[in-house]
Amino acid sequence: MIETPKVDSSFLGQKNIKVFIFDIDGVIRDVSGSYRRALADTVEYFTNSAYRPTSEEIDNLKAEGIWNNDWEASQELIKRYFHGLDQESKVSYESIVSFFQSRYRGNEPNWSDGYIASEPLIANQEYFQELTSAGIGWGFFSGATRASAKYVLKRLEMTEPVLIAMEDAAGKPDPSGLILAVKQIESRNQILADLVVYVGDTVADMLTVVKARDFDPSYNYLAVGVIPPHVPDNLRDRYRDLMKENGADIVLNNMLELTPQLNLLQSSVS
Ligand SMILES: [Mg+2]
Repeated sequence: MIETPKVDSSFLGQKNIKVFIFDIDGVIRDVSGSYRRALADTVEYFTNSAYRPTSEEIDNLKAEGIWNNDWEASQELIKRYFHGLDQESKVSYESIVSFFQSRYRGNEPNWSDGYIASEPLIANQEYFQELTSAGIGWGFFSGATRASAKYVLKRLEMTEPVLIAMEDAAGKPDPSGLILAVKQIESRNQILADLVVYVGDTVADMLTVVKARDFDPSYNYLAVGVIPPHVPDNLRDRYRDLMKENGADIVLNNMLELTPQLNLLQSSVS
């Protein structure tokens, strides 16, 4: 069981306090067989099986930086499909959300038959324990629903970590949810952060950090991009470049590479 992060009192008053905030989907869990599969299913269903977006097409949409919400992304791909036929989509947003959720969460009350039940974890408990031991405050800012985010945090045996979910703040790239997470971590750990590190896997995540620098200049920020597991080897360099072009200071292959020992400043200039 991972306790709520509490920084050891020996770190109080220490300079250069770091706070690590993590996106969830594609960062701590692999959602290629869950959210992304549900997205493709939804588009396929509402285009009467005429169009199922490929993984690369979903990535191209996400590269636009504003389609972080997968219900809205589904709706957009359906709209674009019908637009290509010179038609208007008549599908309601509510029916898109409802179909998507029936795939992602399934129909059982405990979600055991939904795609969510078989999401591979990328993070592990030891990783977060090491952050805590190193005096690093940490938490989560995700566009997933609170219920879905809590589901995976529970699988990691975390007890009520700081979590800003879809219901708590405006969607990315609006930076207010990121700052809200920082404030909650500061107050819970009784620290004042100097450096805010945000770890995400999409363009929207990187833009969130870029916007945060104007939104609250009282912190230093570092945007850490991670390449999500679904990206094949031959497209990983391109994905890395895309993240850097949109504000990533460092791009890693996996969030586990972001260790307390990693020299962030040195990595960000290389
Ligand atoms: Mg993500």
